[in-house]
Amino acid sequence: MKKEACIICGKEVDGKPIVEDYFIKALRSIKKVFTSEVNRYKLVVCDNCMKTYEERKKRYDSSLKTLFILFALFFLMIVVLPLFSGRLPDPIAIFMAFIISLLLVVLVHLGYMPQIER
Ligand SMILES: [Zn+2]
Repeated sequence: MKKEACIICGKEVDGKPIVEDYFIKALRSIKKVFTSEVNRYKLVVCDNCMKTYEERKKRYDSSLKTLFILFALFFLMIVVLPLFSGRLPDPIAIFMAFIISLLLVVLVHLGYMPQIER
């Protein structure tokens, strides 16, 4: 039986389990390199932290939405618009957009909040 640990306060408490998605799995495999502790815990959100969780989750979801809108805008401005005006997309602009996108993805994931199992 795995122990349960809250992802917000980090205490060993009972709570609602979270969905282990690609990001959690990636984090686990990174952490496994440094410690064997990680896999002993089942990740949950405890009752006390539920409010904090909901707030952070909402913030994460909205920054994710903003990110997709930005990607769409980048794509429009850098790829679609030049093609429409008969030019090839600027490789430097594509490269810049790629770097900025990468930074944004990292930034958004700093506030990452997983889904709770329903
Ligand atoms: Zn907690």
